Amino acid sequence: MLDVSELDTFYGKAQVLHGMSFAVGQGEVVALLGRNGAGKTTTLKSIMQLVPPRGGRVTFGGRDITGWPPHRVAQAGLGYVPEERRIFTQLSVVENLEVGRQPPRDGAVAWTEGSLFELFPNLAERRRNAGKALSGGEQQMLTIARTLMGNPALVLLDEPSEGIAPVIVEQMAHAILRLKAEGLTVLLSEQNLHFARAVADRAVIVEHGEVKFDGTLADLEAHPEIRDAYLSV
Ligand code: ATP
Repeated sequence: MLDVSELDTFYGKAQVLHGMSFAVGQGEVVALLGRNGAGKTTTLKSIMQLVPPRGGRVTFGGRDITGWPPHRVAQAGLGYVPEERRIFTQLSVVENLEVGRQPPRDGAVAWTEGSLFELFPNLAERRRNAGKALSGGEQQMLTIARTLMGNPALVLLDEPSEGIAPVIVEQMAHAILRLKAEGLTVLLSEQNLHFARAVADRAVIVEHGEVKFDGTLADLEAHPEIRDAYLSV
């Protein structure tokens, strides 16, 4: 469904991705793992064309989206949830969701406020509250929920478990498993191996902007030396 092929991405003269290649199949949950600064965020931004790669190709649903403006990439069905929470602090939870509303894709069931409140019950309780009144974890949930209102076919989640309370991390994992059950495809970046184990089918380990491992979580368990070499555990 998503094919990332030989991406070279730079910030100015500094090359951060070096021939980054991997694929995500329809309905899969894939975790991009790696230490701080390994290039996970840059990979997600390169896929969205927010930081356009200088070499390589991104294909999504059979279409080459390399070089497209990011809003067209989003219209093509890619939803991006950045690490920093992006909500309107003065607007209520319901109003924030309305801002994200886009028509459903062909044949797909559209997300509604009702179905999103089932996915994130905390947000239902806070529906009339202003964004700024929410906890960090609730803001993270609202950012994801607002992206889902755009009815993407694939969601890119940048460190969904980062900086939130353990009980919320558990709810987040549960929500991602629900998304998978609904048929959504998910690519998430993570430093938390425990979280990746709970939600992902496959792990892609990144170091210095290159893929060092691509396999199932079970394969990774079978090779603790890979985990020790590339992940902080
Ligand atoms: P983190 O968990 O810290 O987000 P990451 O694996 O997502 O780590 P990236 O954010 O992709 O890593 O960063 C990869 C490299 O690119 C790092 O060396 C970082 O310092 C550098 N970098 C990131 N953003 C920029 C930028 N806007 N300008 C210059 N260099 C950047």
